[in-house]
Amino acid sequence: FVNDDGDIAVRPHGAATLPGQEIDLAKVVARASSAPATGGLGLPLPLLVRFPDVLRHRVEALNAAFRYAVSSTGYRSRYQGVYPVKCNQDRYVVEDIVDFGAPFGFGLEAGSKPELLLAMSCLAARGSPDAFLVCNGYKDLEYISLALVARTMGLNTVVVLEQEDELDIVVEASRRLGVRPVVGMRAKLRTKHAGHFGATSGEKGKFGLNAAEILSVVAKLKGLGMLDCLQLLHFHIGSQIPTTALLADGVGEAAQIYCELARLGAAMRVIDVGGGLGIDYDGTHSAETDMSVAYSLEEYAAAVVAAVGRVCDRKGVQHPVICSESGRALVSHHSVLVFEAFSASAPASNLDSATAYLLDELTDDCRGDYRNVMAAAVRGDFDTCAVYADQLKRRCAEQFKEGVLGLEHLAAVDGLCEIVARGMGVAERPRTYNVNLSVFTSIPDMWAIEQLFPIVPIQRLQERPNVDGILSDLTCDSDGKVDQFIGGRHSLPLHELPTHGTRGYYLGMFLGGAYQEALGGLHNLFGGPSVVRVSQSDGPHCFAVTRAAPGPSCADVLRAMHHEPEVMFEVLKQRTNDGATAAAIARAFGAMPYLSFDNEAVEMASSGMSSDSEGSA
Ligand code: PLP
Repeated sequence: FVNDDGDIAVRPHGAATLPGQEIDLAKVVARASSAPATGGLGLPLPLLVRFPDVLRHRVEALNAAFRYAVSSTGYRSRYQGVYPVKCNQDRYVVEDIVDFGAPFGFGLEAGSKPELLLAMSCLAARGSPDAFLVCNGYKDLEYISLALVARTMGLNTVVVLEQEDELDIVVEASRRLGVRPVVGMRAKLRTKHAGHFGATSGEKGKFGLNAAEILSVVAKLKGLGMLDCLQLLHFHIGSQIPTTALLADGVGEAAQIYCELARLGAAMRVIDVGGGLGIDYDGTHSAETDMSVAYSLEEYAAAVVAAVGRVCDRKGVQHPVICSESGRALVSHHSVLVFEAFSASAPASNLDSATAYLLDELTDDCRGDYRNVMAAAVRGDFDTCAVYADQLKRRCAEQFKEGVLGLEHLAAVDGLCEIVARGMGVAERPRTYNVNLSVFTSIPDMWAIEQLFPIVPIQRLQERPNVDGILSDLTCDSDGKVDQFIGGRHSLPLHELPTHGTRGYYLGMFLGGAYQEALGGLHNLFGGPSVVRVSQSDGPHCFAVTRAAPGPSCADVLRAMHHEPEVMFEVLKQRTNDGATAAAIARAFGAMPYLSFDNEAVEMASSGMSSDSEGSA
């Protein structure tokens, strides 16, 4: 992952990437963030860098894995997957997946009305004609009607019943519209995934139909003469399925239900094994934590195909088309969030000959603790030393509150304790690096579910990092920090920040392409990052920026909370006669298309990045 310059190198085609095709991430950041006058795009950080070539690689790898599993086991049908748009609804991500997936008949899965609308329009515009559009989630009459109307437009929608009473709405909508539906059922499996992401699996899971409800739906459809409409069985036992053993267990159980439905007369065609194909966040390839899984893409596909084939063969049922709704595994790798460490806390305080005399001015109690600290340190008795050091600090703090000691005394005592701790080989406290990022906006799962993502400096990787740091974000919130890292570490090895020069110190957060963007919030009204889309090219730096967009302006995030930036600006403008001051305020708001300023203000306001700048480098 590191090139000769010590920068992170992105290999967009995985192992097939040739040495000359690697993209230097630091060069991408330099191009995106440097001033337009020097040929840059002038985008503020943090910066989300998307690599469509990585998406293509993931889509192709998933399909190749299933194709191989099908052909190598003599499975007598095919794989035809869908991408669950909830993992990342970004227009260009969805369009890329549909484009790259078209040769495989790859489709989309939607879980809400807006998701259904975007999936419909994307598949209508560029999808393969037989691609599935799987309609999951909570459904009302409008949602179901939309899904049925989509069938009249030639889209292959399947309405998956998550609750029994959704069937009544499907029947009503299909009568009203005169459209025969294709129906699926989500089964509530007994197989339970024990990890964090399996909370909705098992008999008590939130979603799906149990055995009695499945039978009741079959009976109702039969009574209505619509059993031929039931064609798909779906289940989802949770994200990050840890092992192929658990996977095969779940798929085997679902395949039994599938065969039962065929026996009961349904026109079954497709088994949809949901999501759950996991990725390796921590590099361990083990099932010990939620941070990794103990199988490869190929082993996942082989386990699914084998489990379905085995059950169907035993029951004499025709092999179904296998669909999966793999989201995390498709989009996690495609983007990197780059942010800057702009300052760091000073190195641990020190005590020198100029300040050591302050220790003699301590009260008798404190001097007693100080002597005990030193005596224990000389004996090499770490534990006693730590106890007296703590006591000394606590006593000094109390005396400071009473006004007995001054700030200089507190600093001298802190310095003494740091020196002793260092001398005894006890780790110094990590230093805090301030980063221009909101954890709540850009890495919400880190805060919400303690998910870990790999974080790495993107430059100077040929230089040994000599500081242990934690990251503190821009929000005024004590949870806005990163102090847990891959491998159980409580700090990250970092370099000293550059003290001069124009290059900043940038860190990359990897594998965050799934879920983070839509889950992120506006805490402290920090908007999302700037975004660039970077493709591999034959140019001198091996890359082309094919799309660039700044993150939301202050005006954008204020509008999201129902403020009216235009009105706010007018109010503030009343308070000044100075055009330059008004222009500076306008600049702070960022782009406000409906606002009419005087000429100077318009020019300066729009010199911020207000719209996508498309083009290639
Ligand atoms: N399908 C359904 C019904 C889901 O609820 C989810 C997410 O939890 C997925 C697919 C995507 O799962 P994953 O990201 O693990 O592939």
